[in-house]
Amino acid sequence: MEYIMETRNLVKSYKNKTVVDAVNIHVKKGEIYGFVGPNGAGKSTVMKMMLNLTNPDSGEVSIFGKKIGDKSYECLKRIGSLIETPCFYEKITGRQNLELHCEYMGFHNRERIGEAMQLAGLNNIDGKSVSHYSMGMKQRLAIARAILTKPELLVLDEPINALDPEGIREMRTLFRHINQEYGTTIFISSHILSEVEQIADTVGIIQGGKLLKEISMSDIRKCQTDYIELEVDDMERTGYVLEQELGLSDFKVITDKKAEIYDSDKSVKEISAVLVQNGIGLISIGVKQNSLEDYFFHIIGEV
Ligand code: ADP
Repeated sequence: MEYIMETRNLVKSYKNKTVVDAVNIHVKKGEIYGFVGPNGAGKSTVMKMMLNLTNPDSGEVSIFGKKIGDKSYECLKRIGSLIETPCFYEKITGRQNLELHCEYMGFHNRERIGEAMQLAGLNNIDGKSVSHYSMGMKQRLAIARAILTKPELLVLDEPINALDPEGIREMRTLFRHINQEYGTTIFISSHILSEVEQIADTVGIIQGGKLLKEISMSDIRKCQTDYIELEVDDMERTGYVLEQELGLSDFKVITDKKAEIYDSDKSVKEISAVLVQNGIGLISIGVKQNSLEDYFFHIIGEV
């Protein structure tokens, strides 16, 4: 398969510490790729190497089928990016900053500036210099700058960091819109798994500089199993009833009130009835599904 972006055995060390360790990433054209891992896992370092902002010690990056190097200027122009804290000229307005960006990129459709600002949720701020922007507004301006040229590929490092829950939801909608309307491939990093889960087609899981897994969300969903979560007033007795009365063995006590049942042959109705018959106070019971977070910890636990 041809990939729009690919890394081959990418390695980077700082002060004899390997922070990116033989990473092979495969991003398909038109998809949203979620790059997830805890802080310090190596996400930003990989992304800087993708954009030629840092040189790898060994290995290579290919984008649009071409190896990235010092002469990749034209190729990098086809990419919109947001890496680490965005920098702007503080004394001029957001629009003026975007005008400068257009000039720098050789992009001449000025109408697009207003459109990108609106898409990023920056309204009624004409005349306001960037020095008066909040962190969240600067983040939105950075996103407007990244999408300004309708790039074929967007590389976004923790783009929702400075946003509130409402802002995060808006950005999720925006990324989906850009992906679907413009066919833009999006490579997005985050340590917030629940966010990645909602938009990604493929996820790459990185920890300690190593890519532990690269898998499609649809494959994750296939191996996600339902389980029953219950909350009771007496866990000791509940454990006894689950084992002796219901014949269950595959369950886990989470706290002194909560347990999870993985045996699939007993229904919620049957379990509730037997618990109540045995005098246990049932606070809640319901079917749940494993999240990307559960999968993530399962993968991390395997290594
Ligand atoms: P993430 O983006 O997943 O939070 P980073 O790529 O920023 O992780 O960092 C990975 C590791 O590399 C961390 O331990 C970090 O301290 C280290 N690191 C990153 N950049 C540098 C640098 N310029 N000099 C020294 N160490 C660095």
